[in-house]
Amino acid sequence: MYGLSAILSHRYKDGTEKLIAYASEKIPKEEMNRAIIDKEANAIVFGLMKFYDFVYGREIILRTDHKPLEHIFGPTKGIPLKAASRLQRWAYFLSGFRYKIEYIKSECSRNCNALSRLPVDETNIFGAEFTPVYYVNEKMNIVDWQEVVLETKRDEVLSRIVKFCILGWPNNNKDLSSEEQNYLVKKNEIAIEGNCLFWGCRVIIPESLWDWILADLHASHLGIVKIKALTRSYVWWPNIDQNIENTVKSCGICIKEQKAPPHAPLTLWPWPGKVWDRIHADFLGPLFGDMYLVVVDAYSKLSEVINFRNNTKAYRVVEVFDELFAKYGLPNLVVTDNGPQFRSDELGQFFKSNGVQHSFSPPYIQK
Ligand SMILES: [Zn+2]
Repeated sequence: MYGLSAILSHRYKDGTEKLIAYASEKIPKEEMNRAIIDKEANAIVFGLMKFYDFVYGREIILRTDHKPLEHIFGPTKGIPLKAASRLQRWAYFLSGFRYKIEYIKSECSRNCNALSRLPVDETNIFGAEFTPVYYVNEKMNIVDWQEVVLETKRDEVLSRIVKFCILGWPNNNKDLSSEEQNYLVKKNEIAIEGNCLFWGCRVIIPESLWDWILADLHASHLGIVKIKALTRSYVWWPNIDQNIENTVKSCGICIKEQKAPPHAPLTLWPWPGKVWDRIHADFLGPLFGDMYLVVVDAYSKLSEVINFRNNTKAYRVVEVFDELFAKYGLPNLVVTDNGPQFRSDELGQFFKSNGVQHSFSPPYIQK
């Protein structure tokens, strides 16, 4: 695949199809080493952009000969959480179209394949953008970027994974070594950026750097949970969680820290007897300049979110509770924090006149 190609055709009622237009563009040399899934997805986006005026607002069928895209871009399926951010953005772009996605065997899309091998212009669709490389390079001071590039090239397993990503994975999983199998479940979520492999926004680290990174992550003896959380933002390799656990478990300082007195246990509110018996309310915001009152029924978890704009004065709170009580009935108890609106006489009077109890203590204290 040297280029992106797309074909627009029209299907008649009798099932026959007539071609309307062809399009193809060359992928620049420096972009050739992208994962195949990236290039295939790119071809779909390219086609939609090229034929935008024909397809926007109509029901269309997108055909791809790349099986994983049927799942990733399928309108009824969610895109995998860890898919490369570019795929996520493309899925978002696609969501503006009314489409069905169909998988067709490569042999059936020869005309399209021919075009992608004989493209006309250079395209810049991958273009410069905010990629995980920038993120990791900026934020991750645990490892030198160039070192990861170099070691990825030297690493036998990762070199093969890079190859699979660019040229396609073997059809038979049995052809993969046990190390390669570790990457199999993530194959549609692995991207290549700046000559490194990424799983989501996490760099896949070659084995020669594992110990070094583990030592660095563990330098402040943060304990298993925090180290794992830190790792999750930046790096990944097979069994990384297990490796972290082993490192921490064999460390005297971490073990000693672990024995610190436990936090006071959280006590749950008692389960209310019926719907709208006890409600909890709190302000949320400012979100884009507005304040919201979030009201949750403890029994059903039914929630109401009321936009207060920038006026959260007590009389507004009374108005809103008045509306809510008209809608759902009077609760037994309303729980809020100590915000000034909630402590106001106005609201106090309102609750009292309706026989509604009001509690300011967020955590329930068991006696
Ligand atoms: Zn430690």
